[in-house]
Amino acid sequence: MNTSSKRCPVCKRSRSEEFTPFCSKRCKDRDLARWFGDGYSVPGDPVNPEEIAHKDWDEA
Ligand SMILES: [Zn+2]
Repeated sequence: MNTSSKRCPVCKRSRSEEFTPFCSKRCKDRDLARWFGDGYSVPGDPVNPEEIAHKDWDEA
């Protein structure tokens, strides 16, 4: 397994050939958004804004 050296720079998961060097379109877009949205750093696991919104709805 040599995928360990090829990780998505956004979420550190195995990258996808289709979206290399990212693992998914989400991470690709996320990386772009990081450049447009200053101060929006990614600590590790990606946080899906949609999931957060859904959580808010569930708790509300
Ligand atoms: Zn990723």
